[in-house]
Amino acid sequence: MIPERPLLEVNGLKKHFPIRGGMMGQVTAKVYAVDGVTFDVRRGETLSIVGESGCGKSTVGKAILRLYDVTEGEVYLDGERIDNMSAARLRPMRKRMQVVFQDPFSSLNPRMRVRDILAEPLMNFGMAHGSAEVTRQVEALMDKVRLPRDAIGRFPHEFSGGQRQRIGIARALAPGADLIICDEAVSALDVSVKAQIINLLADLQDELGLALLFISHDLATVEHLTHRVAVMYLGKIVELADRRTLFSASHHPYTKALLSAVPVPDPTAKRQRIILKGDVPSPINPPRGCRFHTRCPFVFDRCRTEEPLLRPIGSAAHMSACHLDKVPVGEVVPQAA
Ligand code: SF4
Repeated sequence: MIPERPLLEVNGLKKHFPIRGGMMGQVTAKVYAVDGVTFDVRRGETLSIVGESGCGKSTVGKAILRLYDVTEGEVYLDGERIDNMSAARLRPMRKRMQVVFQDPFSSLNPRMRVRDILAEPLMNFGMAHGSAEVTRQVEALMDKVRLPRDAIGRFPHEFSGGQRQRIGIARALAPGADLIICDEAVSALDVSVKAQIINLLADLQDELGLALLFISHDLATVEHLTHRVAVMYLGKIVELADRRTLFSASHHPYTKALLSAVPVPDPTAKRQRIILKGDVPSPINPPRGCRFHTRCPFVFDRCRTEEPLLRPIGSAAHMSACHLDKVPVGEVVPQAA
């Protein structure tokens, strides 16, 4: 049962990166990486942020974690505003939000044994004191991520990619986090290992009531893991819906294009593939009006001048940023005999 009150609330988040040039190093342009996104995540819930490379989804995760300063907007963790918190006040909040990155090999110190990798956050955040207590908790973390206890003396290079990602998850759990941001956490893994890690995350969520913010470029990856999906395009959320609605009754033309590339398990059916024209425009100079208008097959005059707001479509929980009330593409069509 997912509680009503969100653990994480993000309101109007913006992250703009200045580009400096000229003799004086003055700001000559800005990268509008994230340009006003609003969402929340509850305990026990997975929200996936999905979009093409460069849409700003990883920047959202890093801004929440305060790896980047926020340009504008507010971030609340369990009701406490954290985007403007001092470093001293932020420290106890940091242990409650942890991250699992795409490449566990580069994020694990190759010269440290697993015991030390997991002991570090336990001791830094005061979760364990003394060698015996640290070892006991490290072994408990190994149990949680289903790695053998006797592997704590090994180095990262002695593990497979999937096992290294389990170590990354154990490290995120060590300080007692209740929000874990998974930034392309399974993207580098092959299909069967990816499924194992997704199942592990789902089991840990059930067991510990974790809130997961799952960042991925691939809708197929999140389909069996997520409760809700936010689709991002060029710094903005263009559609937000629960999983079932998004995968069966999406509204936004961009979501429909992404979905059309997801393989359909039924071999007798195929999706109508929607190929988008052109490349994603530069976030330095995003298009006026609807940011998707340069690639949208349904563009009309209003789209070029007026930005569509994220608005309820059918129900309050399904939001889409498109001027059209109905977009007639994306249904699964039977394959010709
Ligand atoms: Fe396409 Fe216009 Fe809708 Fe944007 S607002 S997605 S350009 S139809």
